[in-house]
Amino acid sequence: MDLFTVDVTNIPGIGPARAKRLARLQITSVGDVLFYFPARYERVHRESDPLQDGVQAVVEAVVSGSASVKLQGKRSTMSVPMKIGNSNVKALFFNQLYLRHQLIVGRKLRLYGKFHESTQSFMVNRYEVIKPGNRIPEFIPIYKLTKDLTHSAFRGMIQDAMRVYADHVEDSLPMNIRERFKLRSLREAMICAHEPKSEEDIRQAHRRLVFGEFLHFQLQVLGFRRMRSQTQQVTLDEQDLKEKAYSFIEQLPFALTKGQQHAIQTMIPEIASSSPMHRLLQGDVGSGKTAVAFAAIAAVAGLGWQSAYMVPTTILAMQQFEVATSWLVPLGLRVALLIGGQDVSLRQSILADLEAGKLDLVIGTHVLAQEQVHFKNLRLIVTDEQHRFGVTTRKLLRAQGIYPDVLQMTATPIPRTLALTLFGDIAVTSIRELPPGRQPVETKLYSRAQDAAVITLVRTELAKGRQAFMVTPRIDPTEESDMTSAKELYDILGEELAGYTVGLIHGGMPERERTLVMQKFVHGDIAALVATTMIEVGVSVPNATMMVIYDADRFGLATLHQLRGRVGRGAYPGQCILLANKGSDAAQERLQAMLHTQDGFILAQQDLTLRGPGELLGDRQSGMSVFRLGDIVRDMKIMEVARQVASELVHDEEFWLLPNYRSLRKYAYVGNTKDLYVDS
Ligand code: ADP
Ligand code: MG
Repeated sequence: MDLFTVDVTNIPGIGPARAKRLARLQITSVGDVLFYFPARYERVHRESDPLQDGVQAVVEAVVSGSASVKLQGKRSTMSVPMKIGNSNVKALFFNQLYLRHQLIVGRKLRLYGKFHESTQSFMVNRYEVIKPGNRIPEFIPIYKLTKDLTHSAFRGMIQDAMRVYADHVEDSLPMNIRERFKLRSLREAMICAHEPKSEEDIRQAHRRLVFGEFLHFQLQVLGFRRMRSQTQQVTLDEQDLKEKAYSFIEQLPFALTKGQQHAIQTMIPEIASSSPMHRLLQGDVGSGKTAVAFAAIAAVAGLGWQSAYMVPTTILAMQQFEVATSWLVPLGLRVALLIGGQDVSLRQSILADLEAGKLDLVIGTHVLAQEQVHFKNLRLIVTDEQHRFGVTTRKLLRAQGIYPDVLQMTATPIPRTLALTLFGDIAVTSIRELPPGRQPVETKLYSRAQDAAVITLVRTELAKGRQAFMVTPRIDPTEESDMTSAKELYDILGEELAGYTVGLIHGGMPERERTLVMQKFVHGDIAALVATTMIEVGVSVPNATMMVIYDADRFGLATLHQLRGRVGRGAYPGQCILLANKGSDAAQERLQAMLHTQDGFILAQQDLTLRGPGELLGDRQSGMSVFRLGDIVRDMKIMEVARQVASELVHDEEFWLLPNYRSLRKYAYVGNTKDLYVDS
């Protein structure tokens, strides 16, 4: 059974209302639930251990008295006497008066929060009621959830889903591979990931799941290569292509950088050739990859062939469509935008034009990969900022049933050693320089205690008519300890930035809403935008000059660098403010690296040396979330093994014939397979 096609509502207890909440986490199928793995694990405080002052902890507590409440305007503090082990403490709940009726004397709770010795109080960030008879596990899985889903409800759903469906999970790894690498079965690994009994369980679950994910990926990469080697396309005239590209370049309002020229010159012969191009173009944020892609599109269109340009979000599609309108349409190219939520008749006419060859280029989101989209003569696919390498491209190829030239663009620089491990000998072009005249973004580090000073800086910038991004690591305040949350900050800024419009955008909002907010920011109707990292991708707002990153020590280098790349894109100099308390040494080194260089390639290399293969219980950090679970830096060794195994497999006749490889084999076919768990 393919659990990714079974709707979540088939899980007992999940009705339409819950399904809607889950959809915000991109969970729509039973498979999505089972494969929504914890972001990390927390060790439960043991009764025999003394409570430690100021340390984030999970404790078991029993309500021992009735609540008293203090009100201050809209805010409330509720203090509830509790017993934690042998200690009597006051559990403090903030702005959660509605919990009052649940806190009955004698009730057992699991509390997440921090103990303060001086006041003998425990500040509660989150809590769960413990059902009688439940064993207390040593590790608690922590999932990334939105506020309208509690951890206990979510864990209940996972347990229900496992109860009913765990036996139907298809394990793609045959016995021989599992035995060779001492890997647990997929079913066992899933159970260990969601309900680990020991640290070893977590480690083994991780090994198995990441290995599976990476092996599928590597089989896809090799599958692409195999398909490419078997495909012949019409040869195009190189000289013609060059001339068409030059006519495009000549009418640009600027001269191309050397890196851009080189990228175009490398691509033209590959596009002309009868063997399909498959090239990865990496260039730092702002290095001008769009112009390179459009030059190739203009060349192909000049010879009568169509292109598809795929981006991850609606807002990016709209921005690129605008650029195409001013750069490509004057050359006579016919361009259309295909995104979700369009008028049915408009959509129909675009689809008809595409099929009839009346369009040269279609720019769009994942809707481009739908089966109803037919081209007359598709020659070039460009994927821009697609975080999951290969997956979306493969969907589009599958829908089209052909293999044209493919250009994958990314702003996440991958160090050369890593690129080899990831893609083998895939052709990579790097643009190393930025267009001339770009002013560096001034980067400063402030401690969290200085946030008032930072707000003053923001005000100064807004007063000049500029705009600011304010990024936080979390959406909801209750989710996690003392980290700044987007919703909290949004409330606070409402007061602190009175007189300016403050907006809020995060991954828990439906895409339609996010697009609206983003549009307002692009048009300057929002002065300061509070956001989670979802704004890291591609968007260009030239008037935005300030990027403030709260709890910057929580982010990986790649993410920090991407975020910084959002500002200083216009005529005004940009500023990036990193707000962080003294964290771990590693966090300090990351922040120092940010202060010292703006070169994404150097930062990527530093990330590799700073982290190396590492820390299992920590968060995933690569800004490049290509994988559901794996982190290409942390899990590099697993990737190397997966690459080796994939290569052995595709060269082994048995792999293509024997039934025990059936489900693994699907990944190596590019054209005709159903998605299993790496794809979504
Ligand atoms: P990215 O590589 O991040 O996708 P873009 O293609 O969005 O970068 O380019 C960033 C900005 O730089 C755009 O406003 C673009 O018009 C401008 N640009 C691109 N190439 C050049 C160039 N050679 N000289 C000056 N400006 C350029
Ligand atoms: Mg771009």
